[in-house]
Amino acid sequence: MSFELLSEDVVPEHARDVKRDAREFAAEHVAPNAEEYYRTGEYPWEILEAGMDAGLVAQDISEEYGGRGLDLTQVLAIAEEFFRADAGIALTLQLASFGAELMQEYGSEEQKERFLRPVAENEQLTGLAVSEPEVGSDLAGMQTTAERVERPGGDAGDEYVLNGEKYWIGNGVEADWVTVYAKTADTDDRYMNYSLFAVPTDTDGYEAEHIPEKMGMRASKQAHIVFDDCRIPEANLIGSEGAGFMMLADFFNHGRVVVSGHGLGLAAAAFEEAWEFTHGREEFGRNISDFQAVQHGLADMRIEFESARALAYRAAEKVEAYENPGLWAAMAKTKATEVATANAEQGMQFHGGRSNLTDRRIARVYRDVRIPVIYEGANEIQRNLVYRQSGEE
Ligand SMILES: Cc1cc2nc3c(=O)[nH]c(=O)nc-3n(C[C@H](O)[C@H](O)[C@H](O)COP(=O)(O)OP(=O)(O)OC[C@H]3O[C@@H](n4cnc5c(N)ncnc54)[C@H](O)[C@@H]3O)c2cc1C
Repeated sequence: MSFELLSEDVVPEHARDVKRDAREFAAEHVAPNAEEYYRTGEYPWEILEAGMDAGLVAQDISEEYGGRGLDLTQVLAIAEEFFRADAGIALTLQLASFGAELMQEYGSEEQKERFLRPVAENEQLTGLAVSEPEVGSDLAGMQTTAERVERPGGDAGDEYVLNGEKYWIGNGVEADWVTVYAKTADTDDRYMNYSLFAVPTDTDGYEAEHIPEKMGMRASKQAHIVFDDCRIPEANLIGSEGAGFMMLADFFNHGRVVVSGHGLGLAAAAFEEAWEFTHGREEFGRNISDFQAVQHGLADMRIEFESARALAYRAAEKVEAYENPGLWAAMAKTKATEVATANAEQGMQFHGGRSNLTDRRIARVYRDVRIPVIYEGANEIQRNLVYRQSGEE
């Protein structure tokens, strides 16, 4: 193969070093272990620790609190390299600090020292708990409640009591604390009813178990969490009460650009596999890549991939500059994740019967691409945002 899909030309200069580090790490630690972790479905602790040692985990947290302060473009560059090597392990590497940006942006100094620093210094893991068993896409419809009550026995300040359930929560079992999105009011303005809390996972009333085995990204773990009168001090409220929805909306603009990197990595993997297979497989006395129909299929995969990648890096700049961030993040996420599904589908077709062998990289990619079109907001929700925010430009 003479092409270089994840080339540096589209990557701003300041993100190239970390991208090279991520590529080297992925080649040494992620790609060679992908198949085994898919099969066992185990949490890749050793690879996570190696990623921490390499300075590639949770390093978007600022230097002030112990991280490297990697910006969005740098995290995008890491994402595409990691996800090209394997999406399941990559998700675990990137979820170690999922949601921590919210505390970085809105948390108090005391919270940042207590919660954020250990994550940046790779001593703790965190996660973000938004989705629920009965509600996923409707962020203003979540049912978990956080009721403010007086702490028994006096003047130590109030508490919040959490009740409800969360589902699909990355690291819900493994994390030391999670950022929980819960309902603190029931006013007519449904966008002002939610707040965010830092909840240590050893708090009484916090119970988490792994959700059943998944089809894709099996080296990442998600949890079903139940809050049963889970009491936390008011000091754990992140930002102001009622501002949870707005904080989350802003946070997802960053997250969705990173998820576009998930799509790019997967789309690149599908193209590489399709190219290699079609140039090695003979039928009718020639390589199947000699058929024009196959060549056009590969050409379309490449065209779509390059379009998605240009859009993703453009969106990263737009979000960083706060220029219509919601619009650009939604467009980039939708495009890249759907190019990944299309490329995986075409790659499978070009593999013929061998596409059906579960241990093939193309089959793993095919299973994994079904996930980024859903998480951080199903693509229908992204299209709603693109339509609405195009009208607001
Ligand atoms: C592997 C994995 C990891 C995840 N990690 C996390 C995590 O760490 N933290 C977390 O909080 N959540 C996480 N999620 C949950 C994820 O964010 C939700 O699955 C997602 O938001 C969709 O919610 P839902 O599954 O409840 O689908 P639903 O909201 O029930 O939607 C089902 C389908 O209905 C359609 N639909 C819904 N609403 C609309 C609409 N307005 N217009 C048009 N069509 C619509 C779409 O086709 C959608 O896919 C994860 C999910 C997966 C699969």
